[in-house]
Amino acid sequence: MKQKYCQSCGMPMEDSLYGTEKDGTKSDDYCIYCYKDGEFGNPNETMEEMIETCIPFMKESGMDEKQAKEILNNQLPQLKRWKK
Ligand SMILES: [Zn+2]
Repeated sequence: MKQKYCQSCGMPMEDSLYGTEKDGTKSDDYCIYCYKDGEFGNPNETMEEMIETCIPFMKESGMDEKQAKEILNNQLPQLKRWKK
């Protein structure tokens, strides 16, 4: 099976991490941190803000800030939420 990533923050998805739709079914695309009950937690968030939000988590997994920023800047524009 192909590894899925949250289409908002780019986090690798696990079964327990899927967000929920209004009717309680699981979202196919977004994680629970970004998407709950059919809505984004922060609907007005920009991609730049999302990148800033994600950096500390990436640092926790051993990356330095520059590396994390680079990855996010490459990855996020390809995700469904940010694609124009
Ligand atoms: Zn997410």
